[in-house]
Amino acid sequence: MKTIGVIGGMSWQSSQLYYRWLNEAVAARLGGLHSAKIIMSSVDFAEVQALQARGDWDAGGQLLADIALRLQQAGADIILLATNTMHQVASAIEAALDVPFLHIADATAEAVTGAGLRKVGLLGTIYTMELGFYRDRLAQQGIEAIVPGADARRAVNDIIYGELCQGQVRPASKARYLDIVGDMCERGIQGLILGCTEITMLIGAADVPCPVFDTTRIHVEAAVDAATG
Ligand code: GLU
Repeated sequence: MKTIGVIGGMSWQSSQLYYRWLNEAVAARLGGLHSAKIIMSSVDFAEVQALQARGDWDAGGQLLADIALRLQQAGADIILLATNTMHQVASAIEAALDVPFLHIADATAEAVTGAGLRKVGLLGTIYTMELGFYRDRLAQQGIEAIVPGADARRAVNDIIYGELCQGQVRPASKARYLDIVGDMCERGIQGLILGCTEITMLIGAADVPCPVFDTTRIHVEAAVDAATG
């Protein structure tokens, strides 16, 4: 079994899901006492969020590339970046590595196209919904990603940083998300990407009338596929 290197802490609320789900997925496949071989390096998310807010993606890329390289040197065979947003700097990380980097949007695109869908809703941070790095990557696989209007994007973003990343899961925020998803359903989405690794704490397949693509779960499954080969 290969060793999975995880760049975590963005936020630690979802990193703990990665840790648990990677282990559960390995145990489900290999049985018995099997568990995942994981090396995790977890950042101080306040420092990363400050770089995001300043738009200093070069510094963010340098920081995460250094961590990725240290994970590789420590023995990781595969590297995961346990957040959608910071894939904005994926190319800096990939350039530092010799081992494979499993891009969360590629794994998600494969799940969406595998389900035969082409037009999906995308919820995530402002950066994921508004910058090109994520939607363009999906578009390369023939997927059109629809995002909410400006006010709704701001609400989705603020709930991620102000609540979910701090471990708060509020019924009112779930209702707000489901209203926003309802509007996107009226715009004809065939599925919904939970394009932020904490959104799975708030809504899931049982809440939404179309197929849901949980990027945390998809990323974990892709890593375990690669690790257990
Ligand atoms: N974990 C979130 C994501 O998947 C947001 C936190 C971040 O800005 O990295 O995008």
